[in-house]
Amino acid sequence: MPSNTICKTVRQYNSVPLSEADMRKLQEIAGDYRTVKNYVYQRYGGIKSLSIIYPGYTVQNEMTASGLRASLGLPSVYFYLAVFDALGDIKNQWTQTKGRIEKCIRENENLTPEDRHYLRFVMKQSDCFEAILQEKEIQLSEAWEKTFREVRTGVEENRLNQYLRRQVRRHLKKMHTDTVDGFSVSGKAYRYDNHGIYLAIKEKRKRIFIPLTDNNRYTKQLYIRIFPEERNVVIHAPVERKVRQHEDYRGEIGLAMGIRTMFVTDKGSIYGEKYSDHQYALSEYVREGNIRYRRNKDKNPGRKKYTAGRERREEALHTYINAEINRMLRTEKPGVIYLPKLPQSSKAGVNKKINSSVSMWQKGYVRNRLTQKCREQAIELIEVFGKDISNECSQCGATGQKENDVFTCKACGAKLSERENAAKNALKRGQMRS
Ligand SMILES: [Zn+2]
Repeated sequence: MPSNTICKTVRQYNSVPLSEADMRKLQEIAGDYRTVKNYVYQRYGGIKSLSIIYPGYTVQNEMTASGLRASLGLPSVYFYLAVFDALGDIKNQWTQTKGRIEKCIRENENLTPEDRHYLRFVMKQSDCFEAILQEKEIQLSEAWEKTFREVRTGVEENRLNQYLRRQVRRHLKKMHTDTVDGFSVSGKAYRYDNHGIYLAIKEKRKRIFIPLTDNNRYTKQLYIRIFPEERNVVIHAPVERKVRQHEDYRGEIGLAMGIRTMFVTDKGSIYGEKYSDHQYALSEYVREGNIRYRRNKDKNPGRKKYTAGRERREEALHTYINAEINRMLRTEKPGVIYLPKLPQSSKAGVNKKINSSVSMWQKGYVRNRLTQKCREQAIELIEVFGKDISNECSQCGATGQKENDVFTCKACGAKLSERENAAKNALKRGQMRS
């Protein structure tokens, strides 16, 4: 992908609800899609399969031979996408596992620098890594053998290999999915026509037609998200967009992100004032839903209505977040944005009822959206050192007091909103680094 374009997901919606019969057909595909994914997770998610998941042709061939496709009666256009979808998840899972192990290695005080060097080396060399996990003889290409000899001298190899195996067992999670919320579809299985889309279904040579609200046509692999209760679908299409360059976006701004308001700038401008209302509605819904669920657990209640309600509130929150980020960029016209690195845990004035996991997750969403939108518009987003950013006075640098969202500095007499002070510091720290 050339650097002046960016990948983006656009969505399409059905213009009228699908018939029940058509929705059932999509649900069948989604159900089979999940079955295939779980099969792949189960069979290839473990240590033994590590050597065949890259690049995945062996898995593809074995899956063809497994007979699963025929027994489900799932068209191959869907079957192989489900296989590769699951393989992608497995690869991600390995990447995450390695990341967690690297962190453990970094933080383990019983390891010497030589131990760490050895462990990092064998984790990078996939042949080494696999051999150790499967307790086999390590065989390396000549090019690496000399380096490896140096790396392994003076360390207790057996102990370290055991440590590595233990860490993998601890961090590599068994994967499984219960959700039947959609499936991927390749260009071979769909065709746009006449303000709608034709989709291949399980019946041979049959297609269903879904009228859409727009007449856009895409050519890449799509994801069909289904909402059976409402009989709706949302189509996710990846597109490449040209980066928009704004001549007049030149300023540098500092931003503080909060739980209550999304952004406060170094000039004190506020964006996303209703952020906490939306977030509160979502958190409360999740909290009440969980209480109800636990209370009635023996009766095995369905969660369909709950899930639909949660999704609706999430959508509303996300629409709001995106609109406010857009408004901020349009108004501020920044060339550079400085943002504190660590999510600040503001103790004062936080509504205790806000479910922390929901709010943390939404914070990640805000950050991701801001990052994406900055990329799309060639705005530089720079993270600055976040420690003590809200305790330090932006005027004189002394440590001040925070109370009810107001920052006061006894040293110089400064008195301003806590977030504005943090945003001013973000700008200062950002400009100091260059
Ligand atoms: Zn001061």
